[in-house]
Amino acid sequence: MTNIQEKPIELDGSQGEGGGQILRTGLALSVATGQPLAIEKIRAGRAKPGLMRQHLACVNAAAAISGAQVEGAELGSQSLRFTPGAVRAGEYRFAISGAGSCMLVLQTVLPPLLLAGAQSRVHLSGGTHNPMAPPFHFLERAFAPLVRRLGADLQLTLRRCGFYPAGGGEVEAVVVPAAGPLQPFDLIARGAHRAGHAECLAPGLPRHVPTRELDTLGGAMGWSGEQLRLGAVRQNEGPGNALMATLAYEHVTEVFTAFGEKSMSAEQVAHGLARELRAFQKSEAAVGPHLADQLALLQALAAWQGRKACAFTCSEVTEHTRTNCAVIERFLPVRFAIAEGGDACRVQVAPA
Ligand code: AMP
Repeated sequence: MTNIQEKPIELDGSQGEGGGQILRTGLALSVATGQPLAIEKIRAGRAKPGLMRQHLACVNAAAAISGAQVEGAELGSQSLRFTPGAVRAGEYRFAISGAGSCMLVLQTVLPPLLLAGAQSRVHLSGGTHNPMAPPFHFLERAFAPLVRRLGADLQLTLRRCGFYPAGGGEVEAVVVPAAGPLQPFDLIARGAHRAGHAECLAPGLPRHVPTRELDTLGGAMGWSGEQLRLGAVRQNEGPGNALMATLAYEHVTEVFTAFGEKSMSAEQVAHGLARELRAFQKSEAAVGPHLADQLALLQALAAWQGRKACAFTCSEVTEHTRTNCAVIERFLPVRFAIAEGGDACRVQVAPA
């Protein structure tokens, strides 16, 4: 990629939502565009501010695919300077010791690898189903099909689940760039409802826990039989508890996930997920709140490369989405327009 400018893009890590996503989007777009990144006040507002192990893994992964020079890549560091070289396709292994989400490492390296000159294979290990991070099944069923609509490909294989606190999950990602520029596409309507089902991954827990979660969710959603599945688990994967619901529509598939906690009953976990599902079903939007902030980055890359505006609708514009759009605008010559209200919010991104 050619450098748009040599002066670092300066980000305030405490802006807006103020979490790790500012860092990850900053790293991803720094590598994708070749522009250096300087970020201060990393996660300043969080209980444990600065770079934690999983954020450091993202910095190191971004550096590995681009031969970057990095200053400040230490645990607890609140400032980082990152000067990337050209992105290199290839075979990579990124491991997070402990249960930090390795799916967030993928979120960091995917955008630049989508723009690289050849296919990459990325072996990830760590957490695969973590609260506050995209779970594997969300990326596989909801996110990867949208990558394909750009003309690129993302194939994901789950070899082993990883849950907090044991970790140890393993995922393989094959990233295939598009033959030409990424293709902008609109995702305005979800289309006709095709299917819905729930599954519960609960390794290391007594069987009554996933059964009660599925029964309660089934009762709330009117799902039964084949629509309620006990997920297959491997030995020593647990303990863990992820209750996932997949809603398939004509133009999009959404995946919503709730995580069990010791302080919550199985019924509470299921009712929490049912509320999320109903909120999405009630809106007319194509995507839910999490897919929205992640799709914003894909569409921005496509609008930039394809020189054409594109848009999606979402059930809610979260602070994550707003902040991500603001960070994206610092790196790419694109502008977002966000319209809220009515039965769906609309996010459009156009070349500047
Ligand atoms: P941050 O909180 O800044 O580290 O960013 C978290 C990222 O994980 C955002 O892209 C969220 O949309 C995403 N995320 C969090 N929870 C989920 C979930 N249940 N399903 C899908 N994505 C999620």
